[in-house]
Amino acid sequence: MEKEKLVKIRDLSVSYQTRIGTVSAVDHVSFDIYKGEILGLVGESGCGKSTFGKALLRMIDPPGEISSGEIIFNGENIMEYDYDRLRDFRGRRASMIFQDPMTSLNPVQRVDEHLIETIQVHEPRTKQNLALQRSKVMIERLGIGMERLLSYPHQLSGGMRQRVMTGIGLILNADLIIADEATTSLDVIVEAKLADQLREIRNDFGVSLLLITHNIALVAEMADRIAVMYAGHLVEIGDIYKVFEKPKHPYTQGLLASVPNIRFDTKEQLYKMPGEPPNLTHPPLGCRFHPRCPHALPICSQREPSLLEIEAGWSVQCWLYQKQSNEERSD
Ligand code: SF4
Repeated sequence: MEKEKLVKIRDLSVSYQTRIGTVSAVDHVSFDIYKGEILGLVGESGCGKSTFGKALLRMIDPPGEISSGEIIFNGENIMEYDYDRLRDFRGRRASMIFQDPMTSLNPVQRVDEHLIETIQVHEPRTKQNLALQRSKVMIERLGIGMERLLSYPHQLSGGMRQRVMTGIGLILNADLIIADEATTSLDVIVEAKLADQLREIRNDFGVSLLLITHNIALVAEMADRIAVMYAGHLVEIGDIYKVFEKPKHPYTQGLLASVPNIRFDTKEQLYKMPGEPPNLTHPPLGCRFHPRCPHALPICSQREPSLLEIEAGWSVQCWLYQKQSNEERSD
């Protein structure tokens, strides 16, 4: 059965005007997010994954701008929304959980006030007692003790604050939650608990989750699919098991090889990817990964490969596979 698409992102580019030139942080990225899936978006710091997440909610502030593309959410192009529709869209249909809940939560508002305010801003007709009831249900759902409802953010642990942020994201029954490094500041036990809760919530409510992280192990544990970004480009996207089993793009191969696993022999050297990500004011010509790629071909430094589907639901942006498919076509 064909999976239903929630978001279709087409040709999305985000650029920043700086004193030293235009930084192309997200460059013509296209892919879909399916209803009810967990999609892990990974890549090194500065690859554009957080910028991409913000762009999905049109939260790019000057000097940045969405310079091209369409974001079709449940059939509507949100690039055409005016301020009021956009405000309603954020929170009610899609919301974001950020890395540091301490700076996202209002320090002088209690937990119940955060949740009730979120409901009443988007649903002004909802009465206070009904909003409070819904807040209690959410608090219970996230495993936060009811006695914490009247606490202020500084009275909560980091894990609890993150769960409150998650509750704010979920309380309006949004269809898409974007979690941007949401577990990064948590210890591994709290992280595992939050990951379990997010998975349960996805299963119970059918919400789609875009998990933006550099934590490959978390993506392996939680996601249905993985999308890999490098220097503003989407270089590989596919089923989590297939990509982990046999990554196709040389960057994905390097990224996965540099993650230690439990069977890692400590006498072995962990793989270290050579070089550094490029300066995005002057990205290299051709494939942006070519200066670091162990398999680069002459064409790689001259022309940019396109993202090509190499098998159903698995796409790669690399000349190695374009060459292969051209050869197959000419046979
Ligand atoms: Fe390497 Fe070329 Fe593929 Fe880029 S296009 S990843 S340089 S082989």
